[in-house]
Amino acid sequence: SDRVKVVEDVGGKQKSKAKVTRSIVFVTAEAAPYSKTGGLGDVCGSLPVVLAGRGHRVMVVSPRYLHGSPADKNFSGVIDVGHINVFCFGAEQEVAFFHEYREGVDWVFVDHPSFHRPGNPYGDSFGAFGDNQFRFTLLSHAACEAPLVLPLGGFTYGEKCLFMVNDWHAGLVPLLLAAKYRPHGVYADARSVLLIHNLAHQGVESAVTYKNLGLPAEWYGALEWVFPEWARAHALDRGEAVNILKGAIVTTDRILTVSEGYAWEITTVEGGYGLNELLSSRKSVLNGITNGIDVIDWDPSSDNHIASHYSADDLSGKVECKIALQKELGLPIRPDCPLIGFIGRLDYQKGIDLIQSGIPELMKDDVQFVMLGSGDIQCQDWMRIAEATYKDKFRGWVGFNVPVSHRITAGCDILLMPSRFEPCGLNQLYAMRYGTIPVVHSTGGLRDTVVNFNPYGPEGQGELGTGWTFSPLTKESMLAALRLAVETYKKHKPSWEGLMKRGMERDFTWESAAIQYEQVFEWAFIDPP
Ligand code: ADP
Repeated sequence: SDRVKVVEDVGGKQKSKAKVTRSIVFVTAEAAPYSKTGGLGDVCGSLPVVLAGRGHRVMVVSPRYLHGSPADKNFSGVIDVGHINVFCFGAEQEVAFFHEYREGVDWVFVDHPSFHRPGNPYGDSFGAFGDNQFRFTLLSHAACEAPLVLPLGGFTYGEKCLFMVNDWHAGLVPLLLAAKYRPHGVYADARSVLLIHNLAHQGVESAVTYKNLGLPAEWYGALEWVFPEWARAHALDRGEAVNILKGAIVTTDRILTVSEGYAWEITTVEGGYGLNELLSSRKSVLNGITNGIDVIDWDPSSDNHIASHYSADDLSGKVECKIALQKELGLPIRPDCPLIGFIGRLDYQKGIDLIQSGIPELMKDDVQFVMLGSGDIQCQDWMRIAEATYKDKFRGWVGFNVPVSHRITAGCDILLMPSRFEPCGLNQLYAMRYGTIPVVHSTGGLRDTVVNFNPYGPEGQGELGTGWTFSPLTKESMLAALRLAVETYKKHKPSWEGLMKRGMERDFTWESAAIQYEQVFEWAFIDPP
C-alpha cells in the first residue's frame, strides 16, 4: 500500500511510523492486563500499544472492575480524573473516570458500582449478570463523553476521533454518534470502526428495554430485531427484541473481523447468527485483519513463567519445559511420550464435546493429554472424572490461570483446537511461536493461520506447513489428524523439527496488522460517493 511506512532505525531495530496519525478511542469490555477472559482482552491490551508506538494518540475506555479478588490489583495504578453524569435507564447516572498513562496509551476506566462485584466481567457461577445491558450502556455513553471532557496530558482528544467499537458491549457508540451527538453538530467529523471478535454474542434484550438505552425514539428501527419462532417463550410472544450489535452494524462506518476467513464466514447462514444478510449488505465496508500477538509476553526465549528458555536456533530448552510440566501435573515423566494440550473456555464453540467423545479412544494410544479451562460446569466435572479414569495419561486443570497457560503452551508437543467456529484464535499462534504443533479444525482464523503439513511440498521446496488442519468437524477426522501428528512426532524427527521451526519463525507481530488497521481508518474517513 502506498501510505504505509516511513522506516526509522531504533537501536538497530526497524520500527515504522504511520504516515497519517489519528486520535483513536478503543471502547471495550476487556483490556489485558486489567481484565481478560479471552482474545478480546488480548487484542485490546496489545493493539492500542502498537498503534501508539506508530505515532497515533490512543485511548482505551473500559470498565474498572473490582471483583473482590486478586485481579483487582491490576487497577492499583489508576487515579480518579473526574466524574460525569450520563442519561440512560430513565435517570442521570453518575460515573467516574479513572486513568493511567502506560506504554504510550491513555487507559481510561469507567467506574460505577455495577462493575464492582465477584465474578468475571460478564457473570459469575450462576451465569451472566442480569443487568449487563445497563452496565455496557453506561460504558458506551461514558466512552462517547471521554474524548470531549477528559484533558489527558493537558488537552482533550476532541471530536475528530476514530472510535474502535469492540463487540456488542461497545455497540451503542456508533448509534450514539449518529442519534445523540451529530444532530447537535457534535462529532460530525468522528468515525467508527466496529471490530467483531465474536458474532455469537449480540446484546439482545426484550424490545421494552429500548427506552433505557438513551436513544431517541425514532431510532428504534436501527436496533429492531425479531426472534425466530423457536426461540420464543410462549405463543403470545411476538419475538420483539432489540439487538445492540445489529444497531452497530447498520450505523458504523466500517466493519472489521479478527481474520479474513471470519469476515467471509459471518456472511454465510452457518456463521452469521441471523445477521448474515445484513452483513452481506454491508460487504463493501467489511474486511478481516488477522490478530497479531504480544511477542514480548509470549516469547519462549524470555518467558518468566516457563522452566527453561529456548528459541528456533536452540530448541533444547523445550524438553526441559515438557519435563517440568509433567512433574507439575504429576504425569509420568516421559520426554518421548507425545504430550497433547488444550487451553480455552469450556464452551460449545470450542468443540469440547468432540474432545469428550474422542478421549476414550485417544487414551488407548501412547499419549498424554492436559486440558486447562473453565466455563461449563458439566464439562469441568467431566475433566475431573477423566483425570480419575486415566490417571497416568490425562490431567484436567479447572480454572483461568495465565502462568499455567504459558507452561502448557511451552511444555506440550501438540495443541488441539477443535473449535466449531473461531473468529481468529490466539492459542494456535502462541503454540506455533513456542514450537508446539497445532492440530485444528479448519475454520475461520484457524484455517487462515495454520498451514497444513505437506511432506511432499512443491519441487525444490521440501516439506511445508506448520500443523494439521482437519475437516469435517467429527471425532474421526480429529483423531485421524492427531494420530498423524503423533506418528510424525514419533517416527519422523526431522519433519517434526521442520514443523516447529517454520512455526516459530513466522511473523506474529502486531506491526503488520497495525498497518492494515491504518488503511481501514483512512477508508473510514473517506465519505462514500
Ligand atoms: P476466545 O476469545 O474465544 O476465548 P482466543 O483463542 O481468541 O479465544 O483467546 C483466548 C485467550 O484466553 C488466550 O490468550 C488464552 O490463552 C486465554 N485463555 C483461555 N482460557 C484460559 C484459561 N483457562 N487460563 C488461562 N488463559 C486462558
